[in-house]
Amino acid sequence: MTSKTINLLSDTVTKPTPGMLEAMFAAEVGDDVFREDPTVNALEAKCAALFGHESALFCPSGTMANQIALKVHTRPLDEVICDEMSHIYQYEVGGYAFHSGIAIQLLKGDNGILSPALVEAAVRPRFDWLPVSRLVVVENTCNRGGGSIYALAQLRAIRAVCRRHGLALHLDGARIFNALVETGDTPAQIGAEVDSLSVCLSKGLGAPVGSVLIGSEAFVAEARRVRKAMGGGMRQAGYLAAAGIYALDHHIERLKDDHAHARLLADTLAALPYVANIRPVQTNILIFDLVAGATPARFLAHLKQHDIVATSFGPQTIRFVTHLDVTRKMVERVGEVLRAF
Ligand SMILES: *Cc1c(COP(=O)(O)O)cnc(C)c1O
Repeated sequence: MTSKTINLLSDTVTKPTPGMLEAMFAAEVGDDVFREDPTVNALEAKCAALFGHESALFCPSGTMANQIALKVHTRPLDEVICDEMSHIYQYEVGGYAFHSGIAIQLLKGDNGILSPALVEAAVRPRFDWLPVSRLVVVENTCNRGGGSIYALAQLRAIRAVCRRHGLALHLDGARIFNALVETGDTPAQIGAEVDSLSVCLSKGLGAPVGSVLIGSEAFVAEARRVRKAMGGGMRQAGYLAAAGIYALDHHIERLKDDHAHARLLADTLAALPYVANIRPVQTNILIFDLVAGATPARFLAHLKQHDIVATSFGPQTIRFVTHLDVTRKMVERVGEVLRAF
């Protein structure tokens, strides 16, 4: 990859902007394991307040934030209920079994979006031979679902089902701000409907590292111990937290540009004969299938030849992700290359 490469692989590939780097350089730091890093403390307080919760915990990755949440909400032989497309099932190495000793029940939602009725039907009766339904995980936006969004009312209805059955609700909000800039809902409105949530700073927000796990005082106190047990207690992490604070202050509204870019690419693809179908584009993820005969390997090689990187997402499927380091000009360039295939 060169500096000219247009990278549509993921929104994790962004590099810190000059302004973000300056904020990192200027950060006041301390030893966060002793809770003496003022910048980490500031990031955690900011995130808790934003989502209307008591407390928050800075984590090295979104995977760790989710895995800690699973561990704190459950006991071994419990079960977590989620969509089959969920990151916690697809891309976290089966960590739910490894770290927490729990079972998983997978539901078939609508592009990764669960309905209250599906969740209700999945709650198990109490028998000695069944795992105990304990936790529901929703993902907003849903990565494998093509960046699909939960309507607030849908989340509220799922929360009501959870309450009725005594289940906790965790939100994998790796891309929650992509959802919020589209719906206009506030972080506090979302926060009010869940017991805990994880937020990625290193996806579309453009920080180099880090996620935040948000919840009640008691939840985060336990989460902090589990993070340490997983080896995720960091020392002068304020340099990274400073990037996160900068991202929250400067990079949320601009996510709309990424969404517009994804829609532009979708419009281009819609007119091309080698595209079989495109999943609805709601945010910054664009998933489409190629017609039989047009193989992803050949398509991706064509892009590569023109210094554009993307990935296959199934035997006939391609995923593009737009982000901070993909400009309008680059999107137009990708359009030309797509038309030339
Ligand atoms: C990226 C992502 C995560 C966390 O990923 P890390 O690479 O571990 O930071 C969690 N959930 C979703 C939906 C994601 O897309």
